[in-house]
Amino acid sequence: MIFSVLTLFPGIFASPLEESILGKAVGKGLVGFNIINIRDFADDPHRSCDDTPYGGGPGMIMKVEPIFRAIEHVKEVHGRARFVLLSPQGRRFDQFTAERFARSPHICFICGRYEGVDERVLAYVDEEISVGDYVTSGGEFPALVIIDAVCRFIPGVLGNDESVSAESFREPLLEYPQYTRPETFMGSSVPPVLLSGNHEEIRKWRRKEAIRKTVLRRSDLLEGFQASDEDRRFMREIMEEFPE
Ligand code: SAM
Repeated sequence: MIFSVLTLFPGIFASPLEESILGKAVGKGLVGFNIINIRDFADDPHRSCDDTPYGGGPGMIMKVEPIFRAIEHVKEVHGRARFVLLSPQGRRFDQFTAERFARSPHICFICGRYEGVDERVLAYVDEEISVGDYVTSGGEFPALVIIDAVCRFIPGVLGNDESVSAESFREPLLEYPQYTRPETFMGSSVPPVLLSGNHEEIRKWRRKEAIRKTVLRRSDLLEGFQASDEDRRFMREIMEEFPE
């Protein structure tokens, strides 16, 4: 899969794309990155990519022409792509969007800066995506978050492709609690069932604890939860544990 990124700050991407899982994915030839400086597509001597907002107001707005030319460059040189504008006004990114993006052979992210991009950029993108209801200084960190989440769905990127199927949000459930050595730390011990070697009991315990965590922390997720008979029994048991 190819990721292109249009940014005014290409240096931000250097180390995150070289380290750990993403770096290994590049090494294995599973993903490739084109980090493109929007400033290379400015046409004035100062290579300016921003200007003051029409109608007044604080800050600067990224100009449409350099972004438009950078998009055309990506199409000509790197081929067809899905163009995604990072924006706090976009649809909220989630695990399903990550999986959908992973099915695309080429995604191009457009990173805004300053007070954002000229509204006319929207005519040249396929969608606008937000990483959450808060504002970052630019689209670069949101793009990195999305790239990382998407890459986890590309076969071969994770050491064990099963990891992604057990993770939080695969279903509308948080992941079950996890433990590793030591067996006891400061008087707090690993639940005995995890040491039992009984795979069916471990499966049931994990399922129930995933439901418990979701009920306690993110009950909003359960609206879309398709509970099995076993899940419903676990839910009843969890509710019975609460005092009236
Ligand atoms: N003035 C804009 C507004 O109120 O909607 C915010 C501009 S923000 C400081 C600059 C850039 O950061 C945006 O154009 C966008 O690319 C990126 N950005 C900020 N918050 C984001 C978020 N939650 N999700 C995705 N991108 C974001």
